[in-house]
Amino acid sequence: MSDGLVWLGTPAFPQAARKALTDTQLRRNLRKATGTIRDKRLRVSAELDDWEQLRDSAAALKLRTLRHLDRYLEQLEASVTAAGGTVHWAADAAEANRIVVELVKATGGPDGGTREVVKVKSMATQEIGLNEALAAEGIAAYETDLAELIVQLADDRPSHILVPAIHRNRAEIREIFRTRMADVPAELTDEPRALAEAARLHLREKFLRAKVAISGANFAVAETGTVLVVESEGNGRMCLTLPETLITVMGVEKVVPSFADLEVFLQLLPRSATGERMNPYTSAWTGVHEGDGPSTFHLVLLDNGRTATLADQVGRQALGCIRCSACLNVCPVYERVGGHAYGSVYPGPIGAILTPQLAGVGRGSEDGADSLPFASTLCGACYDACPVKINIPEVLVHLRAKVVDAKRGRTVPTMESLVMRAATQVLAAPGRLSMAQKAGALGGRLVGRGGRIGPLPGPFHAWSDTRDLPVPPAESFRAWWQRTHPEETGR
Ligand code: SF4
Repeated sequence: MSDGLVWLGTPAFPQAARKALTDTQLRRNLRKATGTIRDKRLRVSAELDDWEQLRDSAAALKLRTLRHLDRYLEQLEASVTAAGGTVHWAADAAEANRIVVELVKATGGPDGGTREVVKVKSMATQEIGLNEALAAEGIAAYETDLAELIVQLADDRPSHILVPAIHRNRAEIREIFRTRMADVPAELTDEPRALAEAARLHLREKFLRAKVAISGANFAVAETGTVLVVESEGNGRMCLTLPETLITVMGVEKVVPSFADLEVFLQLLPRSATGERMNPYTSAWTGVHEGDGPSTFHLVLLDNGRTATLADQVGRQALGCIRCSACLNVCPVYERVGGHAYGSVYPGPIGAILTPQLAGVGRGSEDGADSLPFASTLCGACYDACPVKINIPEVLVHLRAKVVDAKRGRTVPTMESLVMRAATQVLAAPGRLSMAQKAGALGGRLVGRGGRIGPLPGPFHAWSDTRDLPVPPAESFRAWWQRTHPEETGR
């Protein structure tokens, strides 16, 4: 594991996607799940007359916050501290993991430290590989979100931001429960109610026993020090209230300036995420209160590539993401290849712009990060769906340029780059273009059959094998125009 993002090191996106495309069950599962969420999102967002204004407000709020991020983070630290919490700053994954492990070890237990924690679903802790870091120290981390539990029991990886087990259907989940859960009833069916009940029974005792809970955060309010988690199952509420110690790991970009700002985000997030008007559970806490919830609260503020991303004026938009996953559900690429092909905890369009930036864009393609900005058709559906109006296609194109620039001079020129270089020379001079057009027309007539050019020899065959190439016309448009409009061309 690196000091930064976990997972990267898988094949680059094209190879991983090619493999995923052979899995027809995966495609069926994804099509059904994303289609259902997509339709619900469209229905409930259309109910609000001011939906577009809300999106504009969210985009403006995020941009303003990012512009003054240092100020808001210092304000947040002061507010949390004043409310009885403790704030820790982590520059990267290794530091964040070290802080959390030490905090867990320092909490209760007969041998001076607890050996298990319950967890609320959190992208930040997945990003840093916290479960693996805890396991290395002999501490068991129990995921309590149903989908995360499925992924954990199956030794699998999440494939969607919001529905991590979206690639699994009910029959597969029943099988995972039957083979991996010790306390599962023998007659377990694949009815959602039965599966949820099995998970509930499996988790209840862990909720009651755990001394430490670890969460992420959807938002943290600078002015009050209030931290928020929104979720659908109530497992979060249990984790956030029952244990003695609560540790929250949060990316620094999750801060919002004031409590009033939540009005905008709490309307946009549930509608964009699950197609619900409001979240079943929105938990907010401000420091600690005697006799009410955890008696100790730690907030770990995680950088892990975020300040480097912030320095990029175009790329920084990615830090405005509220992790709703609407962009995944509308993406034609994601719908066909699923989340694992992106090799990151952040899949889909947002992953294609966030992962390379957090990992360091242009470092080389050995870990797959540089291939992600190319994992898109640039159709723009993600931009239309994004509740905070992140211009994902713009960032994709920007990152592609950075990857190409970084590669230049580092690698042996490819056939494509040589052809592009030659094309630049030809297109730069009208005389050269005219000669090239004449040569192309002559060559096309020599090798063409029935108005088409078949497979080309040598290195060109990779291009011509999959394309229908028409024979160039005997006369170019420019030559025809000069011949038929001599008075306008001055000839
Ligand atoms: S980029 Fe936008 S649409 Fe995608 S997850 Fe983030 S907020 Fe949602």
